This record gives sequence, C-alpha cells and structure tokens, in this order.
Amino acid sequence: MTTPERDTWAPWRDKCSSCGRPIVWAVTTRGASMPVDPTPSERGNVLIADRGRELIAGVLNAPQAAGARAQGRALHTAHFAVCPDADRHRRRRR
Ligand SMILES: [Zn+2]
Repeated sequence: MTTPERDTWAPWRDKCSSCGRPIVWAVTTRGASMPVDPTPSERGNVLIADRGRELIAGVLNAPQAAGARAQGRALHTAHFAVCPDADRHRRRRR
C-alpha cells in the first residue's frame, strides 16, 4: 500500500495567481488561509496535517522544525516565502 499524499491534497491544489506555480491551500492554526508549496523543502517550517475537510498548516519555529525533521516529517514552505511575486500577495486581500 502506498500513501497517495498528492491525491489526498487534490481538493486544495491550486496555482498561485501571481507566478502560476502549484500551491496547496492550508489553514493556519489561527484560521487564516495560507498558500503552501506542495513540495517539501529542506528549509521548510510548515507542517501540513490533513484533517479531512481542510489542511492545517502548523508554522514551526526553528527548534520545532528541527525536531520534526529529525522525526522524518516532511516540512513545507509558505508560498509567500518563495513566490517571485510576493509583493502582489501582500496586496491581495479579501
Ligand atoms: Zn507565487
């Protein structure tokens, strides 16, 4: 049995409206929507948890990220951090 991680995220997959790269929409523990790069990153500090109805994005501080990484958890990067058009994100409000 394999873990179809990509498929389980399908409902939240999208493309960045600025740069067109693939993202997934997660919700932070504060309830804010956050676009996250779907590919795990060595610099990532966002832990994605699939809660069924939504993806929860846990933003970790450096020690937490190191601990999660040591446990083999995949960490992701907020798309804000890597989007070449990050300035446009800031202006995009709703
Ligand atoms: Zn982007």
